[in-house]
Amino acid sequence: MDAATLEKKIAQFAVVDLNPDLSALPAGEKAALAKLIEAAKIMDAVFLRQVWAGNEPLLLDLVADPSREGRARLDGFLLNKGPWWRLEHYAPFVPGVPAKPPGGNFYPEDADKKEIEAWIGTLPAAGQAEARGFYTTVRRQPDRTLTLVPYSLEYQGDLARASALLREAARLTQAPTLKAFLEKRADAFLTNDYYASEVAWMELDAAVEPTIGPYEVYEDEHFNYKAAFEAFIAVRDDRETQKLATLGRHLQDVEDHLPIDPRYRNPKLGALSPIRVVNLVFASGDANRGVQTIAFNLPNDERVVAEKGAKRVMLKNLQEAKFERILKPLAAQAMGEAALGSISFDAFFTSVLMHELMHGLGPHNITVGGRATTVRAEMKDLYSALEEAKADVSGIWALQHLVDRGALDRSLESTMYRTFVATCLRAIRWGLAEAHARGAAVQLNRLLDRKAVVIGADGRWDVDPKRIKAEVVDLTRVLMTLQATGDRAGVDALFRELAVVRPEVQKVLDRAAAVPVDIRLRFTAADALAAR
Ligand code: ZN
Repeated sequence: MDAATLEKKIAQFAVVDLNPDLSALPAGEKAALAKLIEAAKIMDAVFLRQVWAGNEPLLLDLVADPSREGRARLDGFLLNKGPWWRLEHYAPFVPGVPAKPPGGNFYPEDADKKEIEAWIGTLPAAGQAEARGFYTTVRRQPDRTLTLVPYSLEYQGDLARASALLREAARLTQAPTLKAFLEKRADAFLTNDYYASEVAWMELDAAVEPTIGPYEVYEDEHFNYKAAFEAFIAVRDDRETQKLATLGRHLQDVEDHLPIDPRYRNPKLGALSPIRVVNLVFASGDANRGVQTIAFNLPNDERVVAEKGAKRVMLKNLQEAKFERILKPLAAQAMGEAALGSISFDAFFTSVLMHELMHGLGPHNITVGGRATTVRAEMKDLYSALEEAKADVSGIWALQHLVDRGALDRSLESTMYRTFVATCLRAIRWGLAEAHARGAAVQLNRLLDRKAVVIGADGRWDVDPKRIKAEVVDLTRVLMTLQATGDRAGVDALFRELAVVRPEVQKVLDRAAAVPVDIRLRFTAADALAAR
């Protein structure tokens, strides 16, 4: 790949300065935050090594190459955390590198899946659990047999430094739950036992909200066993946390008024998993490569989930950056510059929050032909896209309901629908292989068919405010009724018709070809903290 091509690819990622307001943080918390950022930087090095054994030597070569090609390759490497373009099925962009190893550097490079699997089968039960666990690598010994190495040993030097920094941060903070998490996570890095620190992370209630350690298993494409190191160092957003509490108080009322047959409603909603709204200060490792995550659900350890549930963390300033750099330019292409006055981040973010909450509402446990079952079991492969479409459109319905109830400000009404249309377009851009994108196509095509979204002679889109309100109610009813009745054939028919990219939608996507694919972060606030 030549320098110009690579530079063009890199330019599809809009550079965003991450500069959350830290002025309200007490001095001790700020000092703890600075230590956490230092610890987080270590996760970058460990992650690079986890992706590929050749990553670190290659990085040294790239840093030493001052040519235009060399600069572009280094830039691409840092963006993708390796010499393969993640958004293009890992196409290599540095000459001479091998294909990306599917097992990363978690397994010996010369061991294939079959050999590893067969070897795991020979282990006693406890050994098998360790081998399939999150926190070990598989290594070849001099006599060619395989063996397990705990992360605490494999990454000993780095984890010892990170552990010491977490302890320093623990001494600086005044927040008891943060102190507890940091001390327990510092222990975990050395003992390889993460359980207590995962529980402490669920109990975090502090202005500084760190997520640091081995978490997601996607980088292990062989088995999805091994956790990759990452860090999200963030601060709590108090205003949105407040809003979330308000929305949470009205959830039973929302459920009681769902536009479906009353017998499909849930008279008593269970406890919801906690949601935290934070602003990101620094991200590293698996949390800062290729496409930028704007929300995550953790932990993945099922023992912790069974006992404490899981927590959803939403990165508000990243959502805001994507709203400004991607969603608004897309909306301008579809609806014209004039429509930007009725697109708002507040409507966008409130609808994202409502989307998350709506996953807990509506039909889940259902009865089909006298048989107790679940929507997930009945819908099988169609479940994810259906559930995402449901959460989107019923979320908009719920916002209108809460506006009508006086629980949310009336001004939301004037921006939420156009913002919703832009949100659907953005999701379709991800490609229809993705559940959110398929769900968005279903919604957008339905709104176009019902003339709730209209296309003028000049190709500009607009919403019909009256019709869109009615169609959002109607589509909520349709999707939730399909769920309640376990009607997979009905969903299949609906998706065949609507989960497609129609020519009029493609036209807008083509007009918007220059809109960034994603964002790249510059950690301005973190750099300023480090320089103090
Ligand atoms: Zn969702």
